[in-house]
Amino acid sequence: MGVARVEIPRSHPRYESLVIRERLVEGFVEGIVVPQGLIAHGRGECFDYLIGERTIEPALKAMRAAAAALLLAKHPVISVNGNVAALVPGDVVRLAKAVNAKIEVNLFYRSEERARRIAEVLKAHGAEEVLGVDDATATIPELFSERRRVSPRGIYVADVVLVALEDGDRTEALRRMGKTVIAIDLNPLSRTSLAASITVVDNVVRAVPKLAELAEAMKTEPEDSLKSVLKTYDNAEVLSEVLRYVEARLRELSKTMRERVWSSGSP
Ligand code: ATP
Ligand code: MG
Repeated sequence: MGVARVEIPRSHPRYESLVIRERLVEGFVEGIVVPQGLIAHGRGECFDYLIGERTIEPALKAMRAAAAALLLAKHPVISVNGNVAALVPGDVVRLAKAVNAKIEVNLFYRSEERARRIAEVLKAHGAEEVLGVDDATATIPELFSERRRVSPRGIYVADVVLVALEDGDRTEALRRMGKTVIAIDLNPLSRTSLAASITVVDNVVRAVPKLAELAEAMKTEPEDSLKSVLKTYDNAEVLSEVLRYVEARLRELSKTMRERVWSSGSP
């Protein structure tokens, strides 16, 4: 399929965002990303604009709890889909190493070929083992999408699962199985965000490397201190903080609109 590509000048005011788009388009051409993944990314970008395209304090709070949960877990698993593999393959591997987690490919629009390609990308970035390709033989109860197929050595037995750009149904199903679910999702109102145990409202391109860095730093903390981070964590409060952050930010922006709009002097 012919896909138009562009070279983005560094001076472009939306350089970063456009580079990320190009990376997804590349992933699409390589058979890693599905068209629906491109649409999902667009929805994420909208929320990223609202939070100011930076990691906000409530997201950092959630990431500290997420790092603690992953470090304390017996069987942590990082679930990877096409968008995540296209955007942050190296950071996924780094995070998995930092918390001793397994990496598993899990796709809503599953094809064996795509699962295999995603595993190859992760391996090229240093992953030693990638589950969910030839061994997706267990099933998550009550789920009907292809995402119900999981590895019996991975998500099926995991106590903590990290998901990103996840679907609400599956997040709920994982919670019903008694798992701690960490979600990275730019939309604080999605069903995934509401169903997760810990919701990191941030872009995966910022959140996964930051989470790896935090996990590496928190690794040496005593278990009791990690447990207390988790115990005092309140996801509903953190999601409320995100909404209040956006509300306050929009209110401030609304005050300075006159200075920021284009005015040529004539209407
Ligand atoms: P839900 O099923 O949880 O209600 P949804 O149906 O609205 O969510 P999905 O397409 O199932 O959305 O999931 C994609 C989610 O990932 C969206 O909430 C979107 O905002 C988010 N998202 C997209 N791109 C990114 C990104 N780069 N980083 C973090 N989150 C993202
Ligand atoms: Mg959905």
